[in-house]
Amino acid sequence: MQTFNTPYERAMSFVVSAMDRITLLDSEKDMLRQPQNIVQKEISFKKDDGSEQKLHAYRVQHNNARGPYKGGIRFHPAADLEEVKALATLMSIKTAVVGIPFGGGKGGVTVDPKKLSKGELERMSRAYITALKDAIGPQKDIPAPDVNTTAQIMAWMRDEYEKQTGTFAPGVITGKPLAYGGSVGRDGATAKGAFFVLKELLDIEALPLRDLKVAVQGFGNAGAEIAMLLHNAGATIVALSDSQGGIYSKEGLDPIRIKKYKDKTGAVHGEYCTGSVCDIEKLKMDQTETLTNEQLLECECDVLIPSALDNVITAENAKKIKAKIIVEIANGPVSPEADEILSKKGVIIIPDVLANAGGVTVSYFEWVQGLSGDQWTAEKVDHDLERIILKAFNDVRHEAKRKGLTLREASFNVALQRIVDAMRVRGWGNH
Ligand code: GLU
Repeated sequence: MQTFNTPYERAMSFVVSAMDRITLLDSEKDMLRQPQNIVQKEISFKKDDGSEQKLHAYRVQHNNARGPYKGGIRFHPAADLEEVKALATLMSIKTAVVGIPFGGGKGGVTVDPKKLSKGELERMSRAYITALKDAIGPQKDIPAPDVNTTAQIMAWMRDEYEKQTGTFAPGVITGKPLAYGGSVGRDGATAKGAFFVLKELLDIEALPLRDLKVAVQGFGNAGAEIAMLLHNAGATIVALSDSQGGIYSKEGLDPIRIKKYKDKTGAVHGEYCTGSVCDIEKLKMDQTETLTNEQLLECECDVLIPSALDNVITAENAKKIKAKIIVEIANGPVSPEADEILSKKGVIIIPDVLANAGGVTVSYFEWVQGLSGDQWTAEKVDHDLERIILKAFNDVRHEAKRKGLTLREASFNVALQRIVDAMRVRGWGNH
Protein backbone atom coordinates (compact mmCIF):
# COMPACT_ATOMS: atom_id res chain seq x y z
CA MET A 1 0.00 0.00 0.00
CA GLN A 2 1.29 3.47 -0.91
CA THR A 3 2.07 5.70 2.06
CA PHE A 4 1.68 9.46 2.20
CA ASN A 5 3.89 11.31 4.64
CA THR A 6 2.84 14.95 4.61
CA PRO A 7 -0.58 16.63 4.85
CA TYR A 8 -0.11 17.85 1.28
CA GLU A 9 0.64 14.34 -0.04
CA ARG A 10 -2.44 13.04 1.75
CA ALA A 11 -4.77 15.76 0.41
CA MET A 12 -3.30 15.44 -3.08
CA SER A 13 -3.79 11.67 -3.12
CA PHE A 14 -7.57 12.25 -2.97
CA VAL A 15 -7.33 14.96 -5.66
CA VAL A 16 -5.11 12.90 -7.97
CA SER A 17 -7.33 9.82 -7.83
CA ALA A 18 -10.38 11.99 -8.63
CA MET A 19 -8.49 13.59 -11.54
CA ASP A 20 -8.11 10.08 -13.00
CA ARG A 21 -11.85 9.37 -12.67
CA ILE A 22 -13.04 12.44 -14.56
CA THR A 23 -11.72 13.40 -17.98
CA LEU A 24 -9.22 16.24 -17.72
CA LEU A 25 -6.60 17.69 -20.02
CA ASP A 26 -3.02 17.38 -18.79
CA SER A 27 -2.82 21.20 -18.61
CA GLU A 28 -5.90 21.24 -16.35
CA LYS A 29 -4.39 18.57 -14.09
CA ASP A 30 -1.20 20.63 -13.86
CA MET A 31 -3.16 23.70 -12.77
CA LEU A 32 -4.99 21.81 -10.05
CA ARG A 33 -1.88 20.08 -8.72
CA GLN A 34 -0.25 23.33 -7.58
CA PRO A 35 -1.64 26.37 -5.77
CA GLN A 36 -1.94 29.48 -7.94
CA ASN A 37 -0.11 31.64 -5.37
CA ILE A 38 1.98 31.06 -2.30
CA VAL A 39 2.69 34.05 -0.05
CA GLN A 40 5.31 33.43 2.65
CA LYS A 41 6.38 36.21 5.00
CA GLU A 42 8.34 36.70 8.16
CA ILE A 43 6.15 38.67 10.55
CA SER A 44 7.36 40.39 13.69
CA PHE A 45 5.64 41.80 16.75
CA LYS A 46 6.56 43.12 20.17
CA LYS A 47 6.45 40.77 23.16
CA ASP A 48 5.32 42.07 26.56
CA ASP A 49 8.96 42.15 27.73
CA GLY A 50 9.80 44.57 24.90
CA SER A 51 11.65 42.02 22.75
CA GLU A 52 10.81 41.45 19.10
CA GLN A 53 9.42 38.03 18.07
CA LYS A 54 9.70 36.87 14.46
CA LEU A 55 7.45 34.14 13.04
CA HIS A 56 6.74 32.40 9.73
CA ALA A 57 3.37 33.31 8.20
CA TYR A 58 1.67 31.91 5.12
CA ARG A 59 -1.27 32.45 2.80
CA VAL A 60 -1.75 29.86 0.07
CA GLN A 61 -4.22 30.53 -2.75
CA HIS A 62 -5.05 27.27 -4.46
CA ASN A 63 -7.68 28.06 -7.08
CA ASN A 64 -10.04 30.96 -7.78
CA ALA A 65 -11.78 29.75 -10.94
CA ARG A 66 -15.18 29.81 -9.18
CA GLY A 67 -14.70 32.96 -7.09
CA PRO A 68 -12.38 34.66 -4.59
CA TYR A 69 -10.05 32.43 -2.56
CA LYS A 70 -11.69 31.48 0.76
CA GLY A 71 -10.46 29.74 3.88
CA GLY A 72 -9.31 30.11 7.46
CA ILE A 73 -6.06 31.09 9.13
CA ARG A 74 -4.61 28.73 11.72
CA PHE A 75 -2.19 29.50 14.53
CA HIS A 76 -0.40 26.26 15.40
CA PRO A 77 3.17 25.08 16.07
CA ALA A 78 2.77 22.47 13.30
CA ALA A 79 1.43 24.93 10.72
CA ASP A 80 3.93 24.98 7.86
CA LEU A 81 3.82 25.49 4.12
CA GLU A 82 2.99 21.83 3.37
CA GLU A 83 0.05 21.86 5.76
CA VAL A 84 -1.30 25.20 4.57
CA LYS A 85 -1.03 24.03 0.93
CA ALA A 86 -3.01 20.89 1.79
CA LEU A 87 -5.71 22.85 3.59
CA ALA A 88 -5.96 25.43 0.77
CA THR A 89 -6.52 22.60 -1.72
CA LEU A 90 -9.22 21.07 0.48
CA MET A 91 -10.92 24.49 0.65
CA SER A 92 -11.21 24.63 -3.17
CA ILE A 93 -12.88 21.23 -3.05
CA LYS A 94 -15.11 22.19 -0.09
CA THR A 95 -16.48 25.42 -1.58
CA ALA A 96 -17.15 23.59 -4.87
CA VAL A 97 -18.92 20.65 -3.15
CA VAL A 98 -21.40 23.04 -1.52
CA GLY A 99 -21.55 25.14 -4.68
CA ILE A 100 -20.81 28.52 -3.10
CA PRO A 101 -19.06 31.07 -5.35
CA PHE A 102 -15.59 30.86 -3.85
CA GLY A 103 -12.29 29.20 -4.56
CA GLY A 104 -9.89 27.84 -1.95
CA GLY A 105 -7.17 29.36 0.19
CA LYS A 106 -5.69 28.98 3.66
CA GLY A 107 -3.39 30.84 5.99
CA GLY A 108 -1.20 29.92 8.90
CA VAL A 109 1.33 31.12 11.42
CA THR A 110 3.84 28.70 12.97
CA VAL A 111 3.24 29.54 16.62
CA ASP A 112 1.79 28.18 19.85
CA PRO A 113 -0.70 31.00 20.52
CA LYS A 114 -1.57 29.57 23.95
CA LYS A 115 1.83 30.75 25.13
CA LEU A 116 1.06 34.39 24.21
CA SER A 117 -0.68 36.99 26.34
CA LYS A 118 -3.82 38.58 24.92
CA GLY A 119 -1.85 41.72 23.98
CA GLU A 120 0.81 39.67 22.20
CA LEU A 121 -1.87 37.70 20.36
CA GLU A 122 -3.46 40.94 19.16
CA ARG A 123 -0.13 42.38 17.98
CA MET A 124 0.68 39.14 16.16
CA SER A 125 -2.75 39.07 14.46
CA ARG A 126 -2.32 42.65 13.30
CA ALA A 127 1.23 41.89 12.09
CA TYR A 128 -0.19 39.07 9.95
CA ILE A 129 -2.47 41.57 8.17
CA THR A 130 0.33 44.14 7.79
CA ALA A 131 2.38 41.50 5.98
CA LEU A 132 -0.44 40.00 3.92
CA LYS A 133 -2.87 42.86 3.23
CA ASP A 134 -2.03 43.01 -0.47
CA ALA A 135 -2.83 39.33 -0.94
CA ILE A 136 -6.31 39.49 0.62
CA GLY A 137 -9.44 41.59 0.02
CA PRO A 138 -13.24 41.29 -0.09
CA GLN A 139 -13.21 40.40 -3.80
CA LYS A 140 -9.86 38.62 -3.76
CA ASP A 141 -9.21 36.34 -0.80
CA ILE A 142 -11.37 36.18 2.32
CA PRO A 143 -9.86 34.64 5.48
CA ALA A 144 -11.83 33.20 8.43
CA PRO A 145 -11.22 31.34 11.70
CA ASP A 146 -9.57 27.93 11.81
CA VAL A 147 -7.60 26.06 14.50
CA ASN A 148 -6.88 28.48 17.42
CA THR A 149 -8.27 31.58 15.67
CA THR A 150 -11.38 33.17 17.17
CA ALA A 151 -13.99 35.82 16.36
CA GLN A 152 -11.94 38.31 18.43
CA ILE A 153 -8.90 37.62 16.25
CA MET A 154 -11.02 38.17 13.11
CA ALA A 155 -12.11 41.55 14.56
CA TRP A 156 -8.50 42.66 15.11
CA MET A 157 -7.64 41.57 11.60
CA ARG A 158 -10.56 43.38 9.94
CA ASP A 159 -9.78 46.51 11.96
CA GLU A 160 -6.13 46.40 10.91
CA TYR A 161 -7.07 45.85 7.25
CA GLU A 162 -9.50 48.79 7.30
CA LYS A 163 -6.94 51.05 9.00
CA GLN A 164 -4.19 50.19 6.57
CA THR A 165 -6.30 50.39 3.41
CA GLY A 166 -8.49 53.31 4.51
CA THR A 167 -11.61 51.38 3.50
CA PHE A 168 -14.79 50.06 5.09
CA ALA A 169 -14.38 46.35 4.42
CA PRO A 170 -16.82 44.06 6.24
CA GLY A 171 -16.35 41.51 3.43
CA VAL A 172 -12.59 41.09 3.96
CA ILE A 173 -12.91 38.42 6.64
CA THR A 174 -15.63 36.15 8.04
CA GLY A 175 -16.26 34.60 11.43
CA LYS A 176 -16.26 38.08 12.98
CA PRO A 177 -18.04 38.93 16.27
CA LEU A 178 -21.72 39.92 15.96
CA ALA A 179 -20.83 43.42 17.20
CA TYR A 180 -18.54 43.99 14.22
CA GLY A 181 -20.14 42.53 11.10
CA GLY A 182 -20.52 38.88 12.10
CA SER A 183 -23.48 36.72 11.09
CA VAL A 184 -25.88 35.06 13.48
CA GLY A 185 -25.37 31.32 13.32
CA ARG A 186 -21.68 31.40 12.24
CA ASP A 187 -20.49 30.01 15.60
CA GLY A 188 -22.50 26.82 15.48
CA ALA A 189 -22.49 26.47 11.69
CA THR A 190 -19.87 23.73 11.27
CA ALA A 191 -21.61 21.42 13.73
CA LYS A 192 -25.06 22.22 12.37
CA GLY A 193 -24.02 21.41 8.80
CA ALA A 194 -22.62 18.06 9.97
CA PHE A 195 -25.79 17.40 11.96
CA PHE A 196 -28.05 18.02 8.93
CA VAL A 197 -25.99 15.66 6.75
CA LEU A 198 -25.77 12.93 9.40
CA LYS A 199 -29.54 13.09 10.05
CA GLU A 200 -30.24 12.76 6.32
CA LEU A 201 -27.87 9.79 6.04
CA LEU A 202 -29.51 8.08 9.02
CA ASP A 203 -32.95 8.59 7.46
CA ILE A 204 -31.76 7.00 4.22
CA GLU A 205 -30.13 4.09 6.06
CA ALA A 206 -33.24 3.75 8.31
CA LEU A 207 -31.11 4.07 11.46
CA PRO A 208 -32.98 5.89 14.26
CA LEU A 209 -30.80 8.47 16.01
CA ARG A 210 -32.16 7.35 19.37
CA ASP A 211 -30.56 3.91 18.97
CA LEU A 212 -27.10 5.26 18.26
CA LYS A 213 -23.99 5.49 20.41
CA VAL A 214 -21.77 8.41 19.46
CA ALA A 215 -18.12 9.20 20.32
CA VAL A 216 -16.78 12.71 19.71
CA GLN A 217 -13.04 13.45 19.69
CA GLY A 218 -12.38 17.13 20.45
CA PHE A 219 -14.47 19.47 22.60
CA GLY A 220 -13.70 22.75 20.84
CA ASN A 221 -16.36 24.90 19.19
CA ALA A 222 -17.55 22.30 16.65
CA GLY A 223 -16.98 19.16 18.76
CA ALA A 224 -18.92 20.45 21.77
CA GLU A 225 -21.72 21.77 19.57
CA ILE A 226 -22.26 18.53 17.61
CA ALA A 227 -22.25 16.53 20.87
CA MET A 228 -24.97 18.84 22.27
CA LEU A 229 -27.06 18.74 19.06
CA LEU A 230 -26.95 14.93 18.93
CA HIS A 231 -27.65 14.60 22.67
CA ASN A 232 -30.68 16.89 22.34
CA ALA A 233 -31.89 14.85 19.37
CA GLY A 234 -31.83 11.67 21.49
CA ALA A 235 -28.53 9.97 20.62
CA THR A 236 -26.34 8.54 23.42
CA ILE A 237 -23.01 10.33 23.65
CA VAL A 238 -20.73 7.59 25.03
CA ALA A 239 -17.37 9.34 24.75
CA LEU A 240 -15.94 12.87 24.67
CA SER A 241 -12.41 14.19 24.81
CA ASP A 242 -10.23 17.25 24.55
CA SER A 243 -6.49 17.61 24.11
CA GLN A 244 -5.88 16.45 27.69
CA GLY A 245 -7.83 13.20 27.48
CA GLY A 246 -11.36 11.86 27.42
CA ILE A 247 -14.23 10.25 29.28
CA TYR A 248 -16.40 7.25 28.45
CA SER A 249 -19.73 6.07 29.79
CA LYS A 250 -21.79 3.20 28.39
CA GLU A 251 -24.91 4.83 29.83
CA GLY A 252 -24.21 8.14 28.13
CA LEU A 253 -22.68 11.51 29.02
CA ASP A 254 -24.43 14.87 29.21
CA PRO A 255 -22.42 17.20 26.96
CA ILE A 256 -24.48 20.22 27.99
CA ARG A 257 -23.49 19.77 31.61
CA ILE A 258 -19.88 19.14 30.63
CA LYS A 259 -19.79 22.27 28.46
CA LYS A 260 -21.19 24.33 31.34
CA TYR A 261 -18.64 22.85 33.70
CA LYS A 262 -15.81 23.51 31.28
CA ASP A 263 -16.93 27.08 30.64
CA LYS A 264 -17.16 27.70 34.37
CA THR A 265 -13.94 26.07 35.54
CA GLY A 266 -11.76 26.25 32.44
CA ALA A 267 -9.05 28.81 32.87
CA VAL A 268 -8.91 31.36 30.11
CA HIS A 269 -5.38 32.18 29.05
CA GLY A 270 -5.18 34.89 26.40
CA GLU A 271 -8.07 33.90 24.14
CA TYR A 272 -8.05 30.20 24.95
CA CYS A 273 -9.92 28.02 27.41
CA THR A 274 -7.59 25.62 29.16
CA GLY A 275 -10.09 23.57 31.17
CA SER A 276 -10.43 19.85 30.53
CA VAL A 277 -13.44 17.57 30.11
CA CYS A 278 -11.62 14.63 31.68
CA ASP A 279 -11.65 15.94 35.20
CA ILE A 280 -14.35 13.48 36.25
CA GLU A 281 -13.60 13.81 39.93
CA LYS A 282 -14.98 17.31 39.85
CA LEU A 283 -17.81 16.36 37.52
CA LYS A 284 -18.93 13.75 40.10
CA MET A 285 -20.31 11.38 37.52
CA ASP A 286 -20.90 7.72 38.18
CA GLN A 287 -19.99 4.92 35.84
CA THR A 288 -17.60 7.11 33.91
CA GLU A 289 -14.10 6.05 32.99
CA THR A 290 -11.22 8.02 31.59
CA LEU A 291 -9.70 7.13 28.25
CA THR A 292 -7.01 8.50 25.99
CA ASN A 293 -7.72 10.20 22.68
CA GLU A 294 -6.38 7.09 20.91
CA GLN A 295 -8.66 4.78 22.93
CA LEU A 296 -11.65 7.01 22.16
CA LEU A 297 -11.25 6.36 18.44
CA GLU A 298 -11.43 2.60 19.03
CA CYS A 299 -14.27 2.62 21.58
CA GLU A 300 -17.54 0.75 21.21
CA CYS A 301 -19.77 3.17 19.29
CA ASP A 302 -21.89 3.45 16.12
CA VAL A 303 -20.89 6.95 15.04
CA LEU A 304 -17.40 8.39 15.47
CA ILE A 305 -16.87 12.13 15.06
CA PRO A 306 -13.23 13.20 14.92
CA SER A 307 -13.40 16.96 15.57
CA ALA A 308 -9.85 17.82 16.55
CA LEU A 309 -6.67 17.13 14.61
CA ASP A 310 -5.76 15.66 11.24
CA ASN A 311 -4.32 12.20 10.56
CA VAL A 312 -5.66 10.56 13.74
CA ILE A 313 -7.10 7.51 11.95
CA THR A 314 -4.29 5.80 10.07
CA ALA A 315 -3.29 2.35 8.74
CA GLU A 316 -2.20 1.59 12.35
CA ASN A 317 -5.59 1.88 14.03
CA ALA A 318 -8.11 1.73 11.15
CA LYS A 319 -8.79 -1.99 11.64
CA LYS A 320 -9.65 -1.41 15.30
CA ILE A 321 -12.33 1.21 14.62
CA LYS A 322 -15.75 -0.14 15.61
CA ALA A 323 -17.97 2.71 14.36
CA LYS A 324 -20.16 2.11 11.31
CA ILE A 325 -20.25 5.79 10.41
CA ILE A 326 -17.47 8.40 10.66
CA VAL A 327 -18.30 12.10 10.40
CA GLU A 328 -15.16 14.14 9.71
CA ILE A 329 -15.59 17.47 11.45
CA ALA A 330 -11.79 17.98 11.62
CA ASN A 331 -9.97 18.59 8.36
CA GLY A 332 -8.11 15.47 7.20
CA PRO A 333 -8.62 13.16 10.23
CA VAL A 334 -8.54 9.94 8.15
CA SER A 335 -5.39 9.13 6.15
CA PRO A 336 -5.75 7.82 2.58
CA GLU A 337 -4.50 4.37 3.73
CA ALA A 338 -7.09 4.27 6.54
CA ASP A 339 -9.77 5.52 4.16
CA GLU A 340 -9.17 2.47 1.95
CA ILE A 341 -9.19 0.01 4.87
CA LEU A 342 -12.38 1.48 6.37
CA SER A 343 -14.21 1.70 3.06
CA LYS A 344 -13.42 -1.97 2.35
CA LYS A 345 -14.88 -2.79 5.79
CA GLY A 346 -18.09 -0.99 4.76
CA VAL A 347 -17.70 1.97 7.12
CA ILE A 348 -19.54 5.02 5.76
CA ILE A 349 -17.36 8.13 5.96
CA ILE A 350 -18.92 11.58 5.56
CA PRO A 351 -15.77 13.36 4.37
CA ASP A 352 -14.47 16.66 5.80
CA VAL A 353 -15.12 18.56 2.56
CA LEU A 354 -18.83 17.89 3.07
CA ALA A 355 -19.21 17.22 6.82
CA ASN A 356 -17.55 20.45 7.98
CA ALA A 357 -18.62 22.66 5.05
CA GLY A 358 -21.37 24.30 7.15
CA GLY A 359 -18.74 26.71 8.52
CA VAL A 360 -17.67 28.11 5.18
CA THR A 361 -21.29 28.11 3.98
CA VAL A 362 -22.33 30.47 6.77
CA SER A 363 -19.11 32.43 6.11
CA TYR A 364 -20.53 32.92 2.63
CA PHE A 365 -23.78 34.25 4.17
CA GLU A 366 -21.71 36.60 6.35
CA TRP A 367 -19.79 37.84 3.28
CA VAL A 368 -23.07 38.43 1.37
CA GLN A 369 -24.46 40.37 4.35
CA GLY A 370 -21.21 42.38 4.58
CA LEU A 371 -21.35 43.34 0.91
CA SER A 372 -25.08 44.13 0.87
CA GLY A 373 -25.43 45.71 4.30
CA ASP A 374 -28.29 43.32 4.97
CA GLN A 375 -28.78 41.42 8.26
CA TRP A 376 -30.26 37.94 8.18
CA THR A 377 -32.32 36.26 10.89
CA ALA A 378 -31.22 33.04 12.59
CA GLU A 379 -34.13 31.30 10.83
CA LYS A 380 -32.92 32.39 7.40
CA VAL A 381 -29.33 31.33 8.15
CA ASP A 382 -30.49 27.88 9.36
CA HIS A 383 -32.90 27.39 6.52
CA ASP A 384 -30.40 28.31 3.80
CA LEU A 385 -27.63 26.29 5.44
CA GLU A 386 -29.85 23.19 5.52
CA ARG A 387 -30.92 23.70 1.90
CA ILE A 388 -27.34 24.15 0.61
CA ILE A 389 -25.73 21.34 2.59
CA LEU A 390 -28.48 18.82 1.82
CA LYS A 391 -28.31 19.65 -1.88
CA ALA A 392 -24.54 19.07 -1.72
CA PHE A 393 -25.09 15.75 0.07
CA ASN A 394 -27.63 14.62 -2.51
CA ASP A 395 -25.37 15.61 -5.43
CA VAL A 396 -22.56 13.60 -3.82
CA ARG A 397 -24.79 10.61 -3.01
CA HIS A 398 -26.09 10.41 -6.57
CA GLU A 399 -22.55 10.56 -7.98
CA ALA A 400 -21.52 7.82 -5.52
CA LYS A 401 -24.46 5.63 -6.51
CA ARG A 402 -24.06 6.17 -10.24
CA LYS A 403 -20.36 5.36 -10.25
CA GLY A 404 -20.06 2.95 -7.30
CA LEU A 405 -17.86 5.35 -5.30
CA THR A 406 -17.41 6.23 -1.65
CA LEU A 407 -18.83 9.56 -0.46
CA ARG A 408 -15.29 10.98 -0.38
CA GLU A 409 -14.52 9.88 -3.93
CA ALA A 410 -17.86 11.25 -5.11
CA SER A 411 -17.32 14.58 -3.31
CA PHE A 412 -13.95 15.06 -5.03
CA ASN A 413 -15.49 14.11 -8.40
CA VAL A 414 -18.36 16.59 -8.05
CA ALA A 415 -16.06 19.38 -6.81
CA LEU A 416 -13.31 18.94 -9.38
CA GLN A 417 -15.86 18.82 -12.19
CA ARG A 418 -17.34 22.13 -10.99
CA ILE A 419 -13.91 23.76 -10.74
CA VAL A 420 -12.91 22.51 -14.18
CA ASP A 421 -16.22 23.63 -15.71
CA ALA A 422 -15.43 27.16 -14.47
CA MET A 423 -11.83 26.93 -15.71
CA ARG A 424 -13.04 25.82 -19.16
CA VAL A 425 -15.60 28.56 -19.68
CA ARG A 426 -12.95 31.05 -18.58
CA GLY A 427 -10.55 29.56 -21.14
CA TRP A 428 -7.98 28.41 -18.54
CA GLY A 429 -5.61 25.50 -18.95
CA ASN A 430 -6.67 24.53 -22.49
CA HIS A 431 -3.61 25.67 -24.35
N1 GLU B 1 -11.68 27.09 8.67
C1 GLU B 1 -12.97 26.62 8.29
C2 GLU B 1 -12.84 25.47 7.30
O1 GLU B 1 -11.85 24.78 7.27
C3 GLU B 1 -13.87 27.75 7.80
C4 GLU B 1 -13.40 28.46 6.57
C5 GLU B 1 -14.22 29.70 6.21
O2 GLU B 1 -15.23 29.94 6.84
O3 GLU B 1 -13.79 30.36 5.28
O4 GLU B 1 -13.76 25.16 6.60
